[in-house]
Amino acid sequence: MTLEKKRVFVAGHKGMVGSAIVRQLKERADVELVTRSRQELDLMSQAAVDDFFSTQRLDEVYLAAAKVGGIHANNTYPADFIHDNLLMESNIIGSAHRHGVQKLLFLGSSCIYPKYADQPMREDSLLTGELEPTNEPYAIAKIAGIKLCESFNRQHGRDYRSVMPTNLYGPNDNFHPENSHVIPALLRRFHEAKINSDDQVAVWGSGKPMREFLHVNDMASASIYVMELDDDSYAEHTQTMLSHINVGTGVDCTIRELAETVAKVVGYQGEVAFDTSKPDGTPRKLLDVSRLTALGWQASISLEDGLRNTYEWFLENQAQLR
Ligand code: GDP
Repeated sequence: MTLEKKRVFVAGHKGMVGSAIVRQLKERADVELVTRSRQELDLMSQAAVDDFFSTQRLDEVYLAAAKVGGIHANNTYPADFIHDNLLMESNIIGSAHRHGVQKLLFLGSSCIYPKYADQPMREDSLLTGELEPTNEPYAIAKIAGIKLCESFNRQHGRDYRSVMPTNLYGPNDNFHPENSHVIPALLRRFHEAKINSDDQVAVWGSGKPMREFLHVNDMASASIYVMELDDDSYAEHTQTMLSHINVGTGVDCTIRELAETVAKVVGYQGEVAFDTSKPDGTPRKLLDVSRLTALGWQASISLEDGLRNTYEWFLENQAQLR
């Protein structure tokens, strides 16, 4: 008997999250993976995306394509962050619907929640207050993505789900010194300080903000888990019209503690200096993950293990970093 395979498109398969989803789906006998490079398919072109969906007979779509970046990149390129993300989401979700794709998973971000939302942040705190200004354009695009999914579900009976990860890190992250997120920035900076025998390394901000970090392999596992939950379990835990689920570890730490753990993993023994001329961003960002826990999934990679794995990847891939 031949196994009936489902055709699964991962948009953004070269990115950190998309590549982790691809690594896990490759292990599956019931999945026929579909991916397209940026040269083969321009996700910003509605005509190209629609043409692609019209020929592919896809069963499921993971929407992991996005323009992403850290606090500095979001501050510097706000137009790119809102415009590129809105276009990609709208093109992919609209074409998926037009060409009969019933199941789609949209990947968002915890920055969709208000800057001063109660901690840990619950799914229903969405749209209850002002956003963090440094990444508001990006957050607005991600909120639009959730609402696109919800609206296609309401109007057309689609099953488009959304997962909102906390701060992610891992292999294939962007290690750009200024535009990256804090973990790749610190791994690189501490590594270079160790190599150069510098006695001081700078960490942005006061060191006091608190963040929750999730290894991308845990994120990929949660994404596939949520995509494949049966309708009844999913509906039971997402109230009417509330179609997104938080994904995190449920545990956070200060940027100072993160810097200490990075120093330990890298083997840097010098001093850590906090550069308070750089922004802190949101004071705290911890997700309430009780909905996902109730659905039967929890994170399994500790911060220190995840940092070791990411540092190894960095060392092996220094030549071709993004
Ligand atoms: P955020 O969670 O959206 O604020 O994303 P980031 O990963 O860019 O920043 C998280 C926190 O780490 C902020 O408080 C930053 O000020 C702090 N941070 C410390 N050093 C760095 C660094 O070198 N790069 C970045 N991006 N953030 C840093």
